Amino acid sequence: MEPMRRCFSKFRSKKKESRDSVKEGSKPSRNEKEPSNVTKQKAEVAKQYIENHYKKQMKDLQERKERRNMLEKKLADAKLSEEEQQNLVKYFEKKERDYMRRQRHKMGPDDFELLTMIGKGAFGEVRICREKASGHVYAMKTLKKSEMLSRGQVEHVKSERNLLAEVDSNCIVKLYCSFQDEEYLYLIMEYLPGGDMMTLLMRKEILTEDEARFYVGETVLAIESIHRHNYIHRDIKPDNLLLDKNGHMKLSDFGLCRPLDCSNLTEEDFCVGGNRSGALQSSGGPVAPKRTQQEQLQHWQKNRRMLAYSAVGTPDYIAPEVLLKKGYGKECDWWSLGAVMYEMLVGYPPFYSDEPLSTCRKIINWRTHLKFPEEANLSTEAKDLISRLICNVDRRLGINGADEIKAHPWFKGIEWDKLYQMEAAFIPEVNDELDTQNFEDFEEVDSQTQSPSKSGPWRKLLSSKDVNFAGYTYKNYEIVNDDQLNGIVSVKKSTATKRPSIKTIFG
Ligand code: ADP
Ligand code: MG
Repeated sequence: MEPMRRCFSKFRSKKKESRDSVKEGSKPSRNEKEPSNVTKQKAEVAKQYIENHYKKQMKDLQERKERRNMLEKKLADAKLSEEEQQNLVKYFEKKERDYMRRQRHKMGPDDFELLTMIGKGAFGEVRICREKASGHVYAMKTLKKSEMLSRGQVEHVKSERNLLAEVDSNCIVKLYCSFQDEEYLYLIMEYLPGGDMMTLLMRKEILTEDEARFYVGETVLAIESIHRHNYIHRDIKPDNLLLDKNGHMKLSDFGLCRPLDCSNLTEEDFCVGGNRSGALQSSGGPVAPKRTQQEQLQHWQKNRRMLAYSAVGTPDYIAPEVLLKKGYGKECDWWSLGAVMYEMLVGYPPFYSDEPLSTCRKIINWRTHLKFPEEANLSTEAKDLISRLICNVDRRLGINGADEIKAHPWFKGIEWDKLYQMEAAFIPEVNDELDTQNFEDFEEVDSQTQSPSKSGPWRKLLSSKDVNFAGYTYKNYEIVNDDQLNGIVSVKKSTATKRPSIKTIFG
């Protein structure tokens, strides 16, 4: 009691001091009485946390009851001896306890062993990792908070986490959990060992129309599924199209779209031959000698990976309305699909250049710059589809939904419902669960290997107080992943357990 009283009296004297200082000075301003915005934000976060916490508890309880009822019903139907029934109930109860324990466990970087780096971005890196408890292999994407904040990407990172947690589709990379510590945000995703479409295109250079139809078709389904959930990707490009071990495509990298900021440029600036076009030279220095088309292409091919890792990313696939920031909708993703399809069939994207700003200029003036080279030998249908995707918004296929695109003659004969069950156009070579041969080799340059995974018990104590990233934590574990139980009681795919519902928990 004593220390408590001391603490109180200290508090009182502080309060008195501050009252006195007000008395001595002028009248207290309104602001001194009202909580600051940060306090309000914190209060809102705390309120959200409490609400979610109790909502989740109620839901968990309900789900447990449902699972129990279902088990009892199945057991009654299964004609088992009394002893067998008791054994199964015991087994089920143990599974429930394990599950609850895993649910309560606060995930952190120490739960994973970091392995090979497979991707690198402006905000962090992607590595394969192994969960220590289960031995499962995942892909871990880390994002440096300070980078996200300084580049105003907080909303984007939240939307990535939200989309991954909300959209349950086999066309989209699956999120297992997300968490954060002082420095980083972490996304633990399924590892797709087939590499990304950029690597495939760098290896194959060009695809046949049949091969391209498979990937473009799967991309249509993936984009359709996120649009259905009212998300716009805005950054559809080959390095965000990943391939699973069977060669099927999954969309990834949501929310971190980094369109080149052209908002301060006007269409006039981009006019080809216009008297202000010189204003777009990226440096103030002497104008570089103009490269030939062939030299530009070589430059682009050599630098495309580097550009993908840069802060702005490549503008090659971005729709003009996004570049100009004049308002855009879902249809911008269909433009990007057109640019990716063009690249698959022609060998390079439609508006490539040796300089991102020059690419932007070409995109804005797409009418002059969209050309189909003779030697690419594209079918009339392919050219028509591309021209109906890379075009003005009001003519663009997809503006009234994906069905318009699916009905285009280039897709004639495609069985949309069976696309994901078909054999893929290419089956990637994957030798084991840790195989990273379909990714580039990355040099371990700095201390990042240790940094996001710095181990030690102190790390767990560093729970984040950063309200900017509140609500980032997420877990998605299938409750029963057990053949013994599934054989008799098919609990796993029940509505109650299919996708456990822990979604928004305070980070
Ligand atoms: P960024 O925002 O930096 O572009 P991405 O999420 O696109 O980050 O990841 C960068 C690269 O890492 C991808 O192009 C891909 O090669 C690889 N990658 C990302 N997520 C996965 C995953 N789940 N499985 C396999 N590779 C991945
Ligand atoms: Mg990416």
